[in-house]
Amino acid sequence: MAHQRLATDDRCVRRPCDRCIEVHRGRVMWFVSRGIPVEFVLPAFPAKSPNTAKVLGATPDMAERLSLQFLCAICDRVRQIYQAGAKIIVCSDGRVFSDLVQIADSNVSCYQAELRAMIDSIGPSSLSLFNLDDEYPGFTHTAMRHMLMGFYGEELELFKQQVHAGGEQLRLYRGITRFLVEDADTPDYQGSRAALQRECRERAYGVIQRSKAWGKLLAQRFPDAVRLSIHPQACGSAKLGIKLVETSDNWLTPWHGTAVDVGGRFMLMKQYEAEAMGADLVYVDGRPSHYMARASEPQSTRPRALVRSGERR
Ligand SMILES: [Zn+2]
Repeated sequence: MAHQRLATDDRCVRRPCDRCIEVHRGRVMWFVSRGIPVEFVLPAFPAKSPNTAKVLGATPDMAERLSLQFLCAICDRVRQIYQAGAKIIVCSDGRVFSDLVQIADSNVSCYQAELRAMIDSIGPSSLSLFNLDDEYPGFTHTAMRHMLMGFYGEELELFKQQVHAGGEQLRLYRGITRFLVEDADTPDYQGSRAALQRECRERAYGVIQRSKAWGKLLAQRFPDAVRLSIHPQACGSAKLGIKLVETSDNWLTPWHGTAVDVGGRFMLMKQYEAEAMGADLVYVDGRPSHYMARASEPQSTRPRALVRSGERR
């Protein structure tokens, strides 16, 4: 609960919040009463954003490493007070909607393979990785998506109605639309802003539809697990929103940004924001990994303010 990512417009009345805790207590106790590790599922880590102005490349970097280490640390902390500990199943969802977010399936495969290697390199780990390829082995990626939607998909119209009703679904829809616009708004994009907005709004419904189908598959595959989410969640939601790395943007994720060392601690920013504040790019094993802010850089400077509107690399 200490790392809860709450929706900014629907906060808890007090902390700790009984309403938020109560939703998850039953599931946690299911594991504790059996003396087995508490199981969490986290649909996350799809693939890197295709917009190279936001990220350093297509493969996991320091932003992912920090996030995975953080998830490991949470499991370690649980083990300090509950001997059986906890385990987190990272359910990489890139394959589920790669065609809708315009990421090549080959990039999803590469990202997932490197993510698995990264988890292994962190050491004896409480983390594991599950993706659509594990559910439907041996099929083409397109066939996997068809099977997912055939078994678990619901009508697109249903999600449109839910979004129109407002609340949590509208918030999610707006968040996803913003990511889609940002990801497609690369220096190569030739069309109008309005056309891009329109197209991304339509694609956002599809992403929500696929994500919900993926959620249903996971609920069946891991029926007892506590559900985590990387998106901000309202007080008392069935999913517990968690923040993986510190960021000034409540919606920013490691795969939409890059890690910046701002003097002994890391923050997530978009790549162009790190460049605009004059941070130095750091390579690890010959690959771009993260940024290091210059010591003279005033820490209070908001990087966004230094980027002129529309300025991009
Ligand atoms: Zn609450």
